Amino acid sequence: MKTEKNILLAFILNFGFSIFEFFGSVFTGSVAIMSDALHDTGDALSIGIAYFLEKKSSKHPDIKYTYGYRRYSVLGGLITTVILLTGSILVITNSIHKIINPSEINANGMIIFAIIGVLVNFLAALFTHKGDSLNQKAVNLHMLEDVLGWAVVLVGSVVIRFTGFTLIDPIMSICVAIFILINSLKNLKEITEIFLEKTPENIDISEIAKHIENINGINGVHHIHVRSLDGNIAFATMHIVTNENGKEIKDKVREELKEHGIFHATLELEQEDEICESHHCHIEFSNAVSHGHHHHHHH
Ligand SMILES: [Zn+2]
Ligand SMILES: [Zn+2]
Ligand SMILES: [Zn+2]
Ligand SMILES: [Zn+2]
Repeated sequence: MKTEKNILLAFILNFGFSIFEFFGSVFTGSVAIMSDALHDTGDALSIGIAYFLEKKSSKHPDIKYTYGYRRYSVLGGLITTVILLTGSILVITNSIHKIINPSEINANGMIIFAIIGVLVNFLAALFTHKGDSLNQKAVNLHMLEDVLGWAVVLVGSVVIRFTGFTLIDPIMSICVAIFILINSLKNLKEITEIFLEKTPENIDISEIAKHIENINGINGVHHIHVRSLDGNIAFATMHIVTNENGKEIKDKVREELKEHGIFHATLELEQEDEICESHHCHIEFSNAVSHGHHHHHHH
């Protein structure tokens, strides 16, 4: 889709713009501008880290990293998230300080910086709004958010210019920073769950177990583990109890797993009279009603 050069350019523009806005915040004394500058820094970092880690994380698995390098992109997300968390807490502290000890604000300067902010983000949104994939839609929504963030600062600066109500500046700043903080905490939760090997959000182990046990010739399934490297690609391992032909059974199970979005499975086949050594991870499947995933090939 995007060439590497475009991504690098987007990173340089975003990053340059963030630095420009940080100067704007110092120059005008506005903490609201600092909040938006922080947000834009976060955007620049995600683009930049995606650029620098994309090559690494899409590298083919090798003997050093047999699962591949996908987690490098998760690591990138973690770095960005930690920077945004720290940044938003600093901005909130700073804004509270400004509420207690108000200082001068250069309203005219603030208006100019806010106009530039709206324009730059609007142009960025205009250039990247093509396409209607899910990912592209998320990007578009984010771009709209960026424009709105600066539009709010613009309105606030006009209010300060004509009413002298400077308290609105730290209030706007805190609102934006809390927004960044909440989003970062959500990301941190997702990333942590990947590192903790939590079952991926879109995978229903009970349902998968039920569907596999419904396959002709399969008497049971246990020792199921599903993990994700990056939140998208899922790996599964399991024991399947069967007395039937191994190849046919494995094909059927792989087919079933594909319908659940799992394309990488390690299957161990067990005869019914075999004693299984793996008791450490016996889990109870919930009898949840089947949902979302309908297919009629099980009889
Ligand atoms: Zn943004
Ligand atoms: Zn199924
Ligand atoms: Zn196990
Ligand atoms: Zn077993």
